[in-house]
Amino acid sequence: MLQVLNPATEEVVATVPAATAQDVDAAVARAARAQERWAAAAPADRARLLRRFAAQVDDHLEELARLEVREAGHVIGNARWEAGNVRDLLDFSAGGAERLSGRQIPVPGGLNVTILEPLGVVGVIAPWNFPMPIAAWGTAPALAAGNAVILKPAETTPLTALRLAELALAAGLPEGLFQVLPGEGGVAGRALVEHPGVAKIVFTGSTRVGKQIMTACADRVKRLTLELGGKSPNIVFADADVEAAALATPMSYLDNSGQDCCARTRVLVQRSVYDRFLATAAPAVESVVVGDPADEKTQMGPLISRTQLDRVRSYVTPGDGIHGSAPEGPGFWFPPTLLTDVDPASPVATEEVFGPVAVVLPFEDEADAIRLANATEYGLSGSIWTRDVSRALRVSGAVRAGNLSVNSHSSVRYWTPFGGYKQSGLGRELGPDALHAFTETKNVFIGTEPADHTQSPEA
Ligand code: NAD
Repeated sequence: MLQVLNPATEEVVATVPAATAQDVDAAVARAARAQERWAAAAPADRARLLRRFAAQVDDHLEELARLEVREAGHVIGNARWEAGNVRDLLDFSAGGAERLSGRQIPVPGGLNVTILEPLGVVGVIAPWNFPMPIAAWGTAPALAAGNAVILKPAETTPLTALRLAELALAAGLPEGLFQVLPGEGGVAGRALVEHPGVAKIVFTGSTRVGKQIMTACADRVKRLTLELGGKSPNIVFADADVEAAALATPMSYLDNSGQDCCARTRVLVQRSVYDRFLATAAPAVESVVVGDPADEKTQMGPLISRTQLDRVRSYVTPGDGIHGSAPEGPGFWFPPTLLTDVDPASPVATEEVFGPVAVVLPFEDEADAIRLANATEYGLSGSIWTRDVSRALRVSGAVRAGNLSVNSHSSVRYWTPFGGYKQSGLGRELGPDALHAFTETKNVFIGTEPADHTQSPEA
């Protein structure tokens, strides 16, 4: 059994049965049957059902958001955005089903066409930090491209995923096409990865587990998308609007209590404006409102679990550095923290803490900023603050990361691609090509000339 705790109170919200390897076997068999019929359906029919699914999510948006507040401690405004992201992505992907098409490539002696075929059954393994959006990023385009999906949510956050599966059925999606199997990573997750009937795995989670899954997939040449960790830079040049950059800094790494793969946890500030930057950033960090995630005014809630709280405490003691406040008593609380005078090679400056903690490091010039920004095994996101457009372009060209923003911290839109360089991942999700990650390309040549059987077929 999986026990779901409210991270703000430590009260038990629900207990959910954990799927076994046999449950995965049965789910894959059901999914394979449903997928055959789904792939044969007209694209417009698949699109219509996905739009109905989006409408169901929209009708239950507040309920889904409240459930996410209870099981994951997300602040209510974010939770509403997350449910809305599922709706929008389903809608967007529905249009993709209607537009997915191959190409006709001119060749001599016949007609050559490419056909984009669905893969079959896709396994989506999701983390606990954004349970709804990340589940949908794999699921919606996979379904739209004609696949069936088995989603394994994280152990701590199965409830919104289970509710989404109910809403899919209510929308009229065929039984077995989208199944949610809560369970342990090492049991249900592993069974999905190793199952010969699962054609592709979409994994979002830690780089450590991602590497294990990559190894298991390599054995079977199983298709794989990986969205892994990050240690993203927030680079503030002296020619930027320094006050605006400083005011935007707290929520660039404190959103979702820092449990965000795109969190800008390395704040790199040009030395000539370092003190000026901190004079604005410090009070902004100190005044972040931490507390009951259901309260509309709250900016930051608790961490997801005791394990995560212990992990954050292993890097930093509450009350160190520039810091805000956090509630006392039950719940997994840690105050917003900004550390200065940190060794750039120390664990807190190089490893993904996944909590409300960032470090500020000074740099000398553009070359030094780029060197520091790239001094990480990760490459997911990053921000560049400057008023010089040429510098913005030069630095965005030089930073090895998949999602950069200039004078902003925005990383995620469902209609633009998302994914990591280096050890932050493999492949891309979202954006105009999202469905392509869930298809095989088949090339078919139809000869129109009488064949000369004395020649090589390639002559
Ligand atoms: P995790 O790796 O511990 O778990 C992720 C999922 O994998 C869970 O569902 C878990 O049950 C499952 N799992 C664990 N072991 C498994 C195994 N051996 N086989 C199959 N499945 C297994 O990660 P987490 O702690 O839940 O999530 C936090 C991590 O996710 C952070 O590192 C964060 O950066 C990363 N993340 C990345 C992105 C991105 O898009 N790049 C987005 C969100 C989170």
